[in-house]
Amino acid sequence: MPPKVYVVDPYHKDAIALLKEHNDIDLVLPSDPAKANYHQDATAIIVRSQTRIEASDIEKSKRTLKYIIKQGVGVDNIDVQAAKAHGVKVYNTPGLNGEAVAELTLSLALSVSRRIAELDRRIRNGEVVVRSEALGRSLFRKTIGLIGMGNIGLFVARKWISAMEGRIIAYDPYAKDGAWEESLPNDKFKRTAVLDELLQTADVISLHVPLLDSTRNMLSTREFELMKQDTILLNCARGGIVDESAMLVALKSGKLFGAGLDALAIEPASMDNYGNTLLTCPNVVVTPHVGASTAENQSQSGIAVVNILFELLKG
Ligand code: NAD
Repeated sequence: MPPKVYVVDPYHKDAIALLKEHNDIDLVLPSDPAKANYHQDATAIIVRSQTRIEASDIEKSKRTLKYIIKQGVGVDNIDVQAAKAHGVKVYNTPGLNGEAVAELTLSLALSVSRRIAELDRRIRNGEVVVRSEALGRSLFRKTIGLIGMGNIGLFVARKWISAMEGRIIAYDPYAKDGAWEESLPNDKFKRTAVLDELLQTADVISLHVPLLDSTRNMLSTREFELMKQDTILLNCARGGIVDESAMLVALKSGKLFGAGLDALAIEPASMDNYGNTLLTCPNVVVTPHVGASTAENQSQSGIAVVNILFELLKG
């Protein structure tokens, strides 16, 4: 019997085409991933971030399931401990999304600083916007505080320096010395061991850490109080890293000039979930977790997942 492979989240057509070329797998493409019944016979499950693979799913699938392969880096939608306990191997595609997520991070920075989404919304609503009341903030030569010195953070750092001629202050107690020091000019880059220093120094703060118990709500009331007036906050990582009630207070008080959020604690981003809170703030720009969603990146990362699968099945 050929191994059964379930694709339970939407994948780029190039990745699906490659899977279909492979005759020795039994490919299942459920039309409704939420109802995908992979528990009885899957050898491999291919996911992105929409579908959650809970301990109970792994328990039910353990008779046949060997591999879970995730397109993307964050594996917080998979119960990795349960997978390990049942000998199910979990793979991801670190390092591939950096360019795309960094582009969105800078897009959100500019959209917030120049109030692009807000002004566009007001014009569409029939307002003739008075220019003197539409002042933005310049990002030229400003300092960005990067929390998390991994793959995506480094792409953001490079782009920040080349696009804004800006400076970087970065915090990551776990990152080894090396890549950042080697590829960023010394006079533009400072690493700090003290998060508070970053919070007090940066004009723009951008999160690039995984969601872990240790990073949950790492920006809360105390941290917002430490920030400079008119800070711009960017979150293209995960929603739970920011305490959203504290962020709402900072947005309404003007402590934050604005926030660009691709990740929210409750997803999907919608009026149902945030219509009475974050989405009441004109200075918030929200995107629906599309950091990695460029055609180029989806094709490349989807193909990378399929190649991991092929290698595993070769044994
Ligand atoms: P990475 O693993 O290369 O880097 C993460 C860094 O965070 C590491 O250097 C790690 O040491 C650091 N870190 C961990 N805990 C920390 C803490 N408490 N304080 C400071 N630093 C800490 O990952 P990456 O590729 O740069 O991705 C970062 C995150 O971005 C992912 O975990 C994922 O949640 C998110 N992401 C979002 C999208 C999107 O569509 N918006 C796409 C890809 C990734």
